[in-house]
Amino acid sequence: TAAHIEAVEAARELNAYVAETPDLALEMADAADAMIKAGDQKGMTGIPVGVKDLFCTKGVHSCSASHILDGFEPRYESTVTQQMWDDGAVMLGKLNMDEFAMGSSNETSYYGPVKNPWRAEGYGHDLVPGGSSGGSVAAVAADIAIAATGTDTGGSIRQPASFTSLVGLKPTYGRCSRWGIIAFASSLDQAGPITKTVRDAAIMLESMAGHDAKDSTSVPSAVPNYEAALTGDIRGLKVGIPKEYRVEGMPEEIEKLWQQGMAWLKDAGAEIVDISLPHTKYALPTYYIVAPAEASSNLARYDGVKYGLRVDGENLADMYSNTRAEGFGDEVKRRILIGTYVLSAGYYDAYYLKAQKVRSLIARDFRDAHEQVDVILTPTAPSAAFALGEKTSDPLSMYLNDVFTVPASLAGLPGISVPAGLNSEGLPLGLQLLGRPFDEETLLRVAEVLE
Ligand code: GLN
Repeated sequence: TAAHIEAVEAARELNAYVAETPDLALEMADAADAMIKAGDQKGMTGIPVGVKDLFCTKGVHSCSASHILDGFEPRYESTVTQQMWDDGAVMLGKLNMDEFAMGSSNETSYYGPVKNPWRAEGYGHDLVPGGSSGGSVAAVAADIAIAATGTDTGGSIRQPASFTSLVGLKPTYGRCSRWGIIAFASSLDQAGPITKTVRDAAIMLESMAGHDAKDSTSVPSAVPNYEAALTGDIRGLKVGIPKEYRVEGMPEEIEKLWQQGMAWLKDAGAEIVDISLPHTKYALPTYYIVAPAEASSNLARYDGVKYGLRVDGENLADMYSNTRAEGFGDEVKRRILIGTYVLSAGYYDAYYLKAQKVRSLIARDFRDAHEQVDVILTPTAPSAAFALGEKTSDPLSMYLNDVFTVPASLAGLPGISVPAGLNSEGLPLGLQLLGRPFDEETLLRVAEVLE
């Protein structure tokens, strides 16, 4: 822990941490020491981790990287982080992210962008770490945390993991409690581990997962021993290759990576099966209706009264609007506008209701496919990490980066991104595996073989 505290201070130029908690970390490390001496050691005991800024941590900065939550220090702890602390994990601090987790590059943060610790030869500029869990991946990739928590609403664990050669696991919706996590889109948000290895992901998921009476969407089923699932044996498993993910304009390096992944799994004894997920092309537009709709509703609570920032006005209504005008960044405002629009009378049926119907069809596609195959293999993202600033003026091209990750989010399925090598410029690329609901064990087993 002491070595990590020093390393965190030495790597401030990455802008990965938005709050450092060295004193707390040392206290937690002492408590972990006591656990070990008492013979009470668990998988996470004594492991220094970073926590994405949208997990509420008692008495510690929890602002979802938004100006509107300035100074917010919750009086409660999120269930997921509490479970990790109960297992003896140590918190190094809070990690940068896109504001309210809205973004794919960590450039919408009120605290400024995060730099990707990976830099390609010949690049004169910095690269984005991906997003929204950009601080989480930068911290783990730069060795200023052994692991980090992330959240994934439409790809925010998987895509940044693929941009930094890490393992990022989005569990099944309902596997981890959402209680105490600052909400973005409640029917999609899910917490998960960001780690260097699949084994670490298994250990950390076991600590994070489990039923919680405080989150009615968390499932009341026992948490398996995920590490025990890593048998290395995938003989006879069926791996689906969805033809619809061969999107137009997909770079050749991504296609090659995908072929390579199929070859690796085949060599390990798996069977490769062509499958179809016919509604894939509707996933991105569906996501960008459902997620903003839920966001506009969730973010209605930030009014200058209950939390964080207050900007005074002549009367109450003025105070509300001044606070929201100053407190939210452009991307968040864009989502609120889209969300209120698609939910408004007259447009609700055409957009929101339609999107919900399409969402069901997308989930059905996966259900049908998973009757034939155990896991599905795809690229994680359509590109490697891009340059800082490259897509900020074009929200649509930013949204397109989520094309391979949002379908599983809409269906609530578990997904994992595994490092799969470097492209010709020396930048990491990731492969994604999608599993059956609550079958993180098979996902982890196959992921370990790919790693
Ligand atoms: N990039 C997607 C978005 O901006 C996903 C974000 C996330 O998973 N939190 O909505």
